[in-house]
Amino acid sequence: MGKINVIFPKNYDFNGVKTKLTIEVAGVPVVATIIRSTFTSDGAHMVLDIPKEIDADEFIKTMSQDGARAYVRALVTVDENECIQCGECCSACAYNALTLDADFNLVVNKDNCTGCRTCVDACPRRCITVY
Ligand code: SF4
Ligand code: SF4
Repeated sequence: MGKINVIFPKNYDFNGVKTKLTIEVAGVPVVATIIRSTFTSDGAHMVLDIPKEIDADEFIKTMSQDGARAYVRALVTVDENECIQCGECCSACAYNALTLDADFNLVVNKDNCTGCRTCVDACPRRCITVY
């Protein structure tokens, strides 16, 4: 699976969609899983997981034709030189993207990161970046 950020325009027709969104990419229906959605005055901001065999660039191009803005999401990074292994970010992350191993070293699992940014504020060293 690959994670894609999409900003849908206010008038986008979700047709009752709640957890999965089917989008035709190059004539093939692609089922994307909605892993996060936030509705603002700009429209709907969503994080979608798409099947790994789907070309992300093609998916993004299709979304753009549909009036949405889409981009491959960059994920959490930690400045190891600043990190003091306190574990605050691990407690804050609801997705197990940040954990401490048995030796209390911080382990970053980017595949689990949804880009929610909760960890950024939780870090006392301000050494976490989420693009
Ligand atoms: S951005 Fe959210 S999901 Fe990603 S590591 Fe931070 S708290 Fe976890
Ligand atoms: S909260 Fe910051 S300093 Fe603490 S373990 Fe996480 S990244 Fe390191």
